[in-house]
Amino acid sequence: MIPWRSWSWLIGKQCQAIGFSFSDNLLILEQAPLLFVSKQIQHALNLPALFTTETVKDAVTSIRRPFITFVLGGPGSGKGTQCARIASAFGVAHLSAGDLLREEISSKSTNGELIRSIIKEGKIVPSEITVNLIHKAIKSSTADKFLIDGFPRSEENRIAFERIVSFLIGVEPDLVLFFDCPEEEMVKRVLGRNQGRIDDNIETIKKRLKVFEKLNLPVISYYSAKGKVHKISAKGSVDEIFEKVHQLFSSLKEANGFA
Ligand code: UDP
Ligand code: MG
Repeated sequence: MIPWRSWSWLIGKQCQAIGFSFSDNLLILEQAPLLFVSKQIQHALNLPALFTTETVKDAVTSIRRPFITFVLGGPGSGKGTQCARIASAFGVAHLSAGDLLREEISSKSTNGELIRSIIKEGKIVPSEITVNLIHKAIKSSTADKFLIDGFPRSEENRIAFERIVSFLIGVEPDLVLFFDCPEEEMVKRVLGRNQGRIDDNIETIKKRLKVFEKLNLPVISYYSAKGKVHKISAKGSVDEIFEKVHQLFSSLKEANGFA
């Protein structure tokens, strides 16, 4: 039993950011316990050290949470292409949920086969798997700005992300970029992109479009209601679309020192 009212876990990145060199988990107690109790807790939880909030307060408040942009849009709406351009123009780390999942397949991880069969069907991989991959990627990056491409794909994805990653970045993204593209244009682009993907065929595309409409649009509505969505018409050439994206990120830069 821990007799103190509140305590918090600081994980991974934060610990590194505030300069503690020991590994992963830290328990921070609101008040300093008596020394022998403190030792017992430390031992029971197998922690490298115990700190009080007082000890780490300054360090914790000086940590800047990363700037998170979710990039959404249907299959072939240009998320990946535009993210690559944003990443190089504005120094933002690009994390593609789909690419992280495909890496799991090619590295033959335990979940690889399951992921492969779900992607082939155009369905959504269990949130736990995707969120953990994103979480790991954020934690192991030194970047302070991230584009999360193609995630969250459902309300369930969104809620899982809030639950698992919130301590690291807070529960909400700073911005949601939505590439709005007509269906026939998306189909044309996906069929023409020739990347050898198991889901870039007409049967799977039809399923992915249905999944997008049924499960992903509600996520966009959720963030719209919170005033977070910036919708960009994704018709036109890569350069034309990037011009609009560039304007948005330039204005962010002016508004809050984004880059
Ligand atoms: N996927 C998923 N969860 C995610 C991202 C992707 O389940 O958060 C799966 C899903 O089956 C999707 C496929 O990976 O259809 C490809 O996603 P990606 O974002 O790479 O495709 P894009 O929309 O860019 O064509
Ligand atoms: Mg993509």
